[in-house]
Amino acid sequence: MTAVGTARRARSALGGALALLTALAGTATVGSPATADPARAPSAPLAVAFDTAALRYDVPRDLLVALGYVETRLDMHGGNPSATGGYGLMHMVSHPGRRTLDEAAARTGLDPAALRTDPAANVLGAAAVLRGYADEAGLTAAARDDLGRWYGPVARYGSAGAAATARRYADAVFDLLRSGFPAERGEALTGRVVTPQRGEPDRAGDRVPLSTDYPPAAWVPAHSGNYTVASRPTSQQIDYVVIHVTQGSYAGSISWFQNPASRVSAHYTFRSSDGAVTQSVREKDIAWHAGNWTYNTQSIGIEHEGYVDNPAWFTDAMYRASAALTRALTTKYGIPRDRAHIIGHVEVPGATHTDPGPNWNWTYYLQLVNGVTGIGSGTVNTGSANLNVRSGPGTGYPVVGSVADGAPVSVYCQTAGSTVTGPAGTTNVWNRIGTNRWVSDAYVSTGHNGYIPGVPRC
Ligand SMILES: [Zn+2]
Repeated sequence: MTAVGTARRARSALGGALALLTALAGTATVGSPATADPARAPSAPLAVAFDTAALRYDVPRDLLVALGYVETRLDMHGGNPSATGGYGLMHMVSHPGRRTLDEAAARTGLDPAALRTDPAANVLGAAAVLRGYADEAGLTAAARDDLGRWYGPVARYGSAGAAATARRYADAVFDLLRSGFPAERGEALTGRVVTPQRGEPDRAGDRVPLSTDYPPAAWVPAHSGNYTVASRPTSQQIDYVVIHVTQGSYAGSISWFQNPASRVSAHYTFRSSDGAVTQSVREKDIAWHAGNWTYNTQSIGIEHEGYVDNPAWFTDAMYRASAALTRALTTKYGIPRDRAHIIGHVEVPGATHTDPGPNWNWTYYLQLVNGVTGIGSGTVNTGSANLNVRSGPGTGYPVVGSVADGAPVSVYCQTAGSTVTGPAGTTNVWNRIGTNRWVSDAYVSTGHNGYIPGVPRC
């Protein structure tokens, strides 16, 4: 088959799929007025993709949205694969051991290229795979209306690894269904009561033990072929902490380290939402994370769930939890707490990776590692109006929300930004009051003039 022929066939298959989506979307709008949300633009392509896929394969729409949010925060990443070889916002995979992308192609008839790069096709393909798993699990039409019954299909979708790993993946999706999430790419999820049908009661093998190196961490060991046994720091001195971003989900990355095909590992991986941490390789052993043998032998590798191009993953909870580990490691191994020894993957000689990328706030991280970990408190003071919350420390950043006059706020860190005059005076100090949520200190009463002692800079 020539390249031209392949492209022509791909276009034709995609054209058919889009016609199908358009037809189904029309049906959904007419037949299901209950799904219409006045706050949502009817033409929002992602909303239509979820509506269509849910209707076509009778998979709960919120389940699809939650799975996509856990995997990618609904981001296509331009059709580029994740570090674990997953494509699109639903993170469909084609590699030894996991073949959701191939299964989606077989079930939908769509071209794999479309499944990888087109959001509507990607969502439709994931829905088809989940429905296939539900059918194989014997779920009837009535059972499919019960979110909790989808636990098994979701676990199978997320991981072909050990049962415990698959359940951790499904737990992440069901935790999100319970908690919900605010607006993301035109979608939002309201938390609800849901009882996942986890099957038989937890067996001993499903219970995740804690790390003996760092007790806050869970211990889920990497495959023995993905790291090198050693006896550090006796065999090699540990001089560096290498900071990574997973380019994939938390559960997916931990599962990837267990896959003998991956040939990669890291010592620790942090979860974006709450800073939870899992250890995969003992500190005495050499994880394969830096792409440089010398640095591998001399370092501890720490992964952070997220993608370098989306700052939403870099939560205060994750920064603070990771910095606590790095502080403990620097104490244990006598590593200086500076940027010469706490480095990004991108700074490893010969690195082909760019993580953690420009959205990682090194100033904040190093402050936390050095023990400046206070959280300030303040009260919004505008006189009466709501105060705009911006995505960065300056009036040039987009407004991402608002807080009412008189509302209490927490100040996770502070930095210099654009100068603003308000009831609290004229200042260039900006307060980070949540993940990528900033307000000018000119409108916040903190009891301090400008910077608050003990609160980190960032
Ligand atoms: Zn990396």
